[in-house]
Amino acid sequence: MDPRIGVLALQGDFREHVDTLRALNVDAFEVRTLAQLDTCDGLILPGGESTTIARLLIAFDLLEPLRARIRSGMPVWGTCAGAILLAKRVPQLDRPPVGVMDITVDRNAFGRQIDSFEAELNVREIEGAPIHAVFIRAPVLRDLGKNVEALCTLGDGRIVACREQNMLATSFHPELTGDHRMHELFVRMVREAMGAPAKPRARAGTTRSRA
Ligand code: GLN
Repeated sequence: MDPRIGVLALQGDFREHVDTLRALNVDAFEVRTLAQLDTCDGLILPGGESTTIARLLIAFDLLEPLRARIRSGMPVWGTCAGAILLAKRVPQLDRPPVGVMDITVDRNAFGRQIDSFEAELNVREIEGAPIHAVFIRAPVLRDLGKNVEALCTLGDGRIVACREQNMLATSFHPELTGDHRMHELFVRMVREAMGAPAKPRARAGTTRSRA
């Protein structure tokens, strides 16, 4: 079955993610309601303003259902503000993040908007030429838990992409470049999760089984 991939569309650059997924012939759609969340096989949390998205997740009654879906194995990918929201530890966030990945994230680690930059980076799991990475008031990922794998580091060793099982986090914005390989990686994660046998679940609730 073809995956249906949602993009959380409360604030931020969700349209660019939807367009990129559609360019890959993926059934992609915007997610603002619980009913839409329920039909996702995978979800992208876009870049934007993490404080705003965190507030809107509560206002739209999506925070707990989203946590539950991710904990039950739904693949999720956070870019920039989305990565901030996935982290369990965000010292500079004044409200609760989704808080599912065993990482610490420092917001605005490279400075202000004017300090935005671009770089060519090698990413584990992505073959071929380095990817062109755009950093806009980007966070740095650190203190990775033992089940978290760093996928990409800058020359100075700072981590800007990592994966923990069904969760992917990138400090940069692949949706703003013409390079679709990060999205392809996420689509592979979603396909793998759809093909995987159901795992025993720690929590009852929102789990769906697929034939
Ligand atoms: N600095 C923003 C935040 O803390 C993230 C910026 C982005 O998503 N490009 O939420």
